[in-house]
Amino acid sequence: MAAIDEQTTFADEVGRIADEIAAVHADDVDKAARFPTETFDALREAGALSALVPESLGGAGLGIADAAAASLALGRRCGASGLVFAMHQIQVACIVRHYDGAGWFEEYLRALVREQRLIASVTSEVGTGGDTGRSIAPITVVGETARTFEKQAPTVSYGAHADDFLTTVRRAVDADGGEQVAVLTSNEQVELEPMGTWDPFGMRGTCSPGFTVRASFEAEQILPQPFSTIGSETMVPVSHLLWSHVWLGVATEAFERARAFVRASAKRTPGEPVPAATRLSHLMTQLSLLRGEVESALDEFLVADATPNRERLATMSAALRFNNLKIAASEQAPRVCQGAMNVCGIVGFKNDTPYSVGRHLRDTMSGALMIANERIHQTNAALLLVAKEI
Ligand SMILES: Cc1cc2nc3c(=O)[nH]c(=O)nc-3n(C[C@H](O)[C@H](O)[C@H](O)COP(=O)(O)OP(=O)(O)OC[C@H]3O[C@@H](n4cnc5c(N)ncnc54)[C@H](O)[C@@H]3O)c2cc1C
Repeated sequence: MAAIDEQTTFADEVGRIADEIAAVHADDVDKAARFPTETFDALREAGALSALVPESLGGAGLGIADAAAASLALGRRCGASGLVFAMHQIQVACIVRHYDGAGWFEEYLRALVREQRLIASVTSEVGTGGDTGRSIAPITVVGETARTFEKQAPTVSYGAHADDFLTTVRRAVDADGGEQVAVLTSNEQVELEPMGTWDPFGMRGTCSPGFTVRASFEAEQILPQPFSTIGSETMVPVSHLLWSHVWLGVATEAFERARAFVRASAKRTPGEPVPAATRLSHLMTQLSLLRGEVESALDEFLVADATPNRERLATMSAALRFNNLKIAASEQAPRVCQGAMNVCGIVGFKNDTPYSVGRHLRDTMSGALMIANERIHQTNAALLLVAKEI
């Protein structure tokens, strides 16, 4: 298998893995609610898990736009593969953009390149719902540099398959819920006690049951910047960008299946009108709205990210912009998939036809729950009252 080098670009290689591997196993991954092992073996072999690590540390030195395009390509062929890939890249982005440029995290990034380590996210917490800006579990000091935490995590995607975990916790036992830090621990330092099972409606291959997460680690494994900074500059906007690229990928595939259905119908009855063709045209308008929103948000992120000290990303208008992307894309993607089902009719509804879009519809419906849209609306409503510019 070709690794990413001068001849084979990252986009080419991820596109090939999406088409030749993720697509082949997507239905089985969904049916069995199993981790997309074949896809991730191939992504590791290609060095894709360290795409965002700077070249000086051995990575590919790519940016958020590359990760977004790859999330779309994988999401198109297998929603779960796309989402796992996106979640991993979000964690890498948080480390690369917020470590202090030396020490433990620099060594960790070199190991990530060498070993193609997969990082899971432990931000949600029982008792806080979707409010990732608040934690209940604190860090406890147990020695000069030794630290521990115990967190009740309702959903840890690919927790049982991850090499490392980036977890948000309160900075100290006496810290306020909003005084958070992010801690990176390896699976050897973490005990995962399962809380429930994973037999969900969609995104089944993300394998995301709940766990009580207990970790023992060293103080140097805490990212030096406060999580409020990491969240506003990276975790929130990059999550919303990469997730929405995954949903766009899934919706694009549903649209293409509907188009294939209409073309096949036209071929069977040459010269006769195909009633579903007009529906397909309506559907294209819906897909264009989704694509426009996702692409423009990425462009705006890149502009804001290039401002001195990323100052534009810390504004209320940026928070509103990327929150709106999440809400709009997570609502529009299932709309496109349902429209595709209406174009295809019963062969779209059935699970075993080339025009089946049931998995796509179920996968995109998870978007509105990945931090409940209603909670994001509440945040936006508060921001709209005080923001000078939007
Ligand atoms: C496929 C998938 C994978 C995920 N993977 C991960 C992961 O790896 N790591 C991780 O940390 N998280 C992950 N999450 C996110 C996590 O599961 C949820 O966002 C989080 O646990 C919130 O859960 P909830 O929807 O039950 O909570 P709530 O936010 O409490 O929502 C429950 C319902 O109550 C309503 N509600 C409750 N309180 C309020 C309020 N104050 N204002 C408005 N509405 C309210 C909501 O609208 C919603 O309808 C994932 C989610 C999905 C769908």
